[in-house]
Amino acid sequence: MFSYIKIGDYMKTLSLNSSGLQVKYLQILLSRQELYLGEIDGIFGDETMAAVREFQELKTINVTGLADDSTWNALIPHSVIPDSIPYSYDIMMFNIDNLKLNYPFLKFGKIGTSVMGKEIPYIQIGFGDTKILYVASTHANEWITSLLLMKFINEFSHAYLHNQKIFNQNADDIFKKSSIYIVPMHNPDGVDLVVNDIDVSSQYYNNAVKISKDYPTIPFPDGWKANINGIDLNLQFPALWENAKEIKEKQGYVSPAPRDFTGNSPLEAPEALLLYDFTIFLEASLMISYHTQGEVIFWKFMDFTPPRAKEIGDTFSSISGYKLSDTPYASSFAGFKDWFIQKFNKPGYTIEAGFGINPLPLEQFGKIYEDNLGILTMAPLLA
Ligand SMILES: [Zn+2]
Repeated sequence: MFSYIKIGDYMKTLSLNSSGLQVKYLQILLSRQELYLGEIDGIFGDETMAAVREFQELKTINVTGLADDSTWNALIPHSVIPDSIPYSYDIMMFNIDNLKLNYPFLKFGKIGTSVMGKEIPYIQIGFGDTKILYVASTHANEWITSLLLMKFINEFSHAYLHNQKIFNQNADDIFKKSSIYIVPMHNPDGVDLVVNDIDVSSQYYNNAVKISKDYPTIPFPDGWKANINGIDLNLQFPALWENAKEIKEKQGYVSPAPRDFTGNSPLEAPEALLLYDFTIFLEASLMISYHTQGEVIFWKFMDFTPPRAKEIGDTFSSISGYKLSDTPYASSFAGFKDWFIQKFNKPGYTIEAGFGINPLPLEQFGKIYEDNLGILTMAPLLA
């Protein structure tokens, strides 16, 4: 059901005069190897091509001057999780290929396929009995949370491999006690729309443009939270969904929208249904759904107060400096956290990382990682 994902061939073939995010990422990788000394400007010029040729010579692969599949494959061992450019689905998948290479003790799978046909991956760390679930980028313009979880996977795996500590805990202890399941990008189509790594001639892109015209006060694509069809995935879960629908319709979200449209029925969007199915299959002891922004941790749904949820929430709060809070009424229903708490009566949290206007600037990433590393590391021990 949740079978393994394919390896490789996520990155585009880039050539002279190509431009965009993937060119920037290529330049970052080549500059880290001191083959490219130019600016990270996202334009594949002569200097970038010369660096690609040099890299190809070094790796004794076909010297084409193109960043083609064999070049990208040779770059996988040199992959870094970038914290200076927007984080797209393809770059994340490229990073996952690097994780596969470096950390054979990790397990990889997919929860299913997005509207646009992208495999939505999960990564499993550890083989203990206590199951933990972390999810990021349910909301498209909150993609910095994907970066947070990917960096955590990388650092945790590194600590485990080298028998080191992470956040002053033995990675080995956590690995044995728990299995941490991480869905680092729940809404990949939406993320790619926001980070401008989408085919602008596709029907999906054009439909999103059309949707956004009905909501002219929401900036496009920066204000986009929904899946590519304009359904807000965090308003899709069967936890008093009708209440969410009523509230959002009163606010004017009556049709597909960049945010806040509940859909016409719960779990209508495939990405919502897939996470629902995966979560039922998993039966995790603790769940964290990452969003931005506000530096706040939400822990309740209605009058459900799962055993130890407040206590663990208080610990998260003191580790991170984020405030533990009740959910405001207007966003109290149909969220993934709401449903998780209602269904399992286990601790489930929405964490609003960072502070500012979404998408949060990458300058905040260092602080976001620092604030949340303790939560991510301690949750398996607290559950
Ligand atoms: Zn959100």
